[in-house]
Amino acid sequence: MSLSTLEKLTILTDAAKYDAACTSSGVDRPNVPGQLGNAVSYGLCHSFAADGRCISLLKVLFTNSCIYNCKYCVNRCSNDTPRAAFTPRELAELTIAFYRRNYIEGLFLSSGILRSPDYTCEQLIETLRLLRQEYHFGGYIHVKAIPGADSALITRLGLLADRMSVNIELPSESGLQKLAPNKTKSSILKPMGLISGRIAENKRDLALYKHAPAFAPAGQSTQMIIGATPDSDLQILRLTEGLYKKYKLKRVFFSAYVPVSDSALLPPMGTKPPLLREHRLYQADWLLRFYGFSASEILDDASPSFDPLLDPKCCWAIRHMELFPIDVNRAEYALLLRVPGIGVKSAKRIITARRESSLSFEGLKRLGVVLKRAQYFITCSGKMMPGLRVTQEGVFRALTEPSPRDPLDTGEQLSFFDTPPARLSWENTPTTSLLSDTVSKGGFSA
Ligand code: SF4
Repeated sequence: MSLSTLEKLTILTDAAKYDAACTSSGVDRPNVPGQLGNAVSYGLCHSFAADGRCISLLKVLFTNSCIYNCKYCVNRCSNDTPRAAFTPRELAELTIAFYRRNYIEGLFLSSGILRSPDYTCEQLIETLRLLRQEYHFGGYIHVKAIPGADSALITRLGLLADRMSVNIELPSESGLQKLAPNKTKSSILKPMGLISGRIAENKRDLALYKHAPAFAPAGQSTQMIIGATPDSDLQILRLTEGLYKKYKLKRVFFSAYVPVSDSALLPPMGTKPPLLREHRLYQADWLLRFYGFSASEILDDASPSFDPLLDPKCCWAIRHMELFPIDVNRAEYALLLRVPGIGVKSAKRIITARRESSLSFEGLKRLGVVLKRAQYFITCSGKMMPGLRVTQEGVFRALTEPSPRDPLDTGEQLSFFDTPPARLSWENTPTTSLLSDTVSKGGFSA
């Protein structure tokens, strides 16, 4: 039975929703009579351009038919699910039609393995060729490289796309052997190495010849499934660090495993995806990329898992209280970045602002420092926050306590015409008084 384009689109956008190399809404909510709008968990995703702009992408598979049988994947050949495949022209025309209607600004294209990796790669090349050369589409394209495809085909694909990615899939080779018997570590790392080498080469070419064709100018990323295998957070973080160093990846995406198979090798159906773990990995990933941390500083063999109560930066700081407090008026940039509550932007602002005059706690707040966390780890011109005495246990308690609930937050939606109640007095209370509250609750003596 031949499917309509809309039926294909429904199947192939739904099948693409497990790919985490960008952010989909993840929410399904039908339209209800009397209400306005609905939400669909698939179809569109968002990505960030180099200038920080958020762009919406049509996220779709070329086909969900696959000759491979990766046990964690809804598209595996042994799964009884409706199958569909676009033709290159169908998909190119659909992309252009959506673009013209202003629904999307680009395309995120992945695929199951149809017939062979080379054949699938050729289909993706043809789709991108039509888009770029026939329809002159200048929008953003992120395409998945097909592991096992010929190097020359991967190179052709990279010359048509903005970003490429090869999914590393699982954190360990043993996991790959058990759950993805058709894939090998080398079939994944080889295209990753090839893309990384071509990107570096292309940068050199572009420096010499301004009009040299660009190869994946937005770089390369990958995705790893979390929670399908027993690998520890430490193993995952070490691998992530290695991938950044060796392949100069732009991003490693983590995807909490959503059970889609009753294989005894996987967590049983109904197991909740490990979302907090995924969140902690993203926090740690941020520390690796922007804060100068190494994986071994964040986790080690003695504590190979993230703390569910504390983010990795706070955890590290509490374990290294001997390094604190540091003085914000003298500490070097790298050390400022280690303070919980001081981010990259606020650290840069501190460096600039302190050239003019000494910084106070009030001034730090204006620079964007989150004093609620930072106060335990810093001094301003040698002085701690007034009334604060710090112990390791007390800081742990203060940082893990839930924030006091906003008394205005009654859980009720205000009407557009309601007058909001006057702010309660504690909101205008000087920070120092609030701190004494926190300190006494957190076990500090003022
Ligand atoms: S190759 Fe890709 S699409 Fe095919 S079963 Fe494995 S993960 Fe799924």
